Amino acid sequence: MSDLLTIPLAILGGGIWGSFLGVLAVRIPQHASIVFPGSRCDHCGTPLLPKDMLPFLSWLRLRGRCRTCQQKILPEIPLSEVLTALFFLLILWLSPSPLSGMRAITLFSFALPLTLIDIRYHRLPHLLTMPCIGAGILLGGLSRGSHGLIEALAGSLAGLLPIALIAHFYPRGIGMGDAFWLSAIGSMTGAGALALVLLIASSSGIVATLIVYKIKSRKSDLSLVRMAMPFGPFLALGGLVTLLVPDLSHLFNAALMEILT
Ligand SMILES: [Zn+2]
Repeated sequence: MSDLLTIPLAILGGGIWGSFLGVLAVRIPQHASIVFPGSRCDHCGTPLLPKDMLPFLSWLRLRGRCRTCQQKILPEIPLSEVLTALFFLLILWLSPSPLSGMRAITLFSFALPLTLIDIRYHRLPHLLTMPCIGAGILLGGLSRGSHGLIEALAGSLAGLLPIALIAHFYPRGIGMGDAFWLSAIGSMTGAGALALVLLIASSSGIVATLIVYKIKSRKSDLSLVRMAMPFGPFLALGGLVTLLVPDLSHLFNAALMEILT
């Protein structure tokens, strides 16, 4: 298929799928059904017209506000549409095998709502992390039969145990949501890639914390030690980078072995 067709299709498909992921990010923390009622304004409850549900375009035409009550549309929806369309373009550009492309899109489809929910509510609902573990194990079985299934199960356990132990002894620092989320990532990347996932997550987390602290401390007396930053988005970043650039994990593990032996 020519680029003239695949690029607009990836943008449109990403926009539509991203719109659904945005709905997940809004409704799951509210314990609301993701199917019923249909799309409606989160402020006044007015059902959306088909012309108000076009990815990107409707938000731009309405200038980010509800047609009826004029309240601002929650940023989760347009942000999800744009980020998913960009991710679909990235997958198109990297052109991985159909199965590894499906694995990356599956992980992204859980990572995006979990990231948005963790930023807003500081939690990672099991309603998203558990099905992601199941999807990772299923994809492992589909790709490499029983060997892939065992690899995905081992990755899932290797992700769960270390953070579950930390969460048990230091519950204020990290939660079980992070343990299940790393377990889900491990089921997709395999146990061998988890050291790199954690390195990317912790280093990007430290940099982001310092930037947010620098910005916020100008306006208020803020303690860097007491500042609570969600860890889920950084685990998501580590998981996606590791999955999309598998050579990085091989290089990292080889360097690690060199240092340790
Ligand atoms: Zn409204």
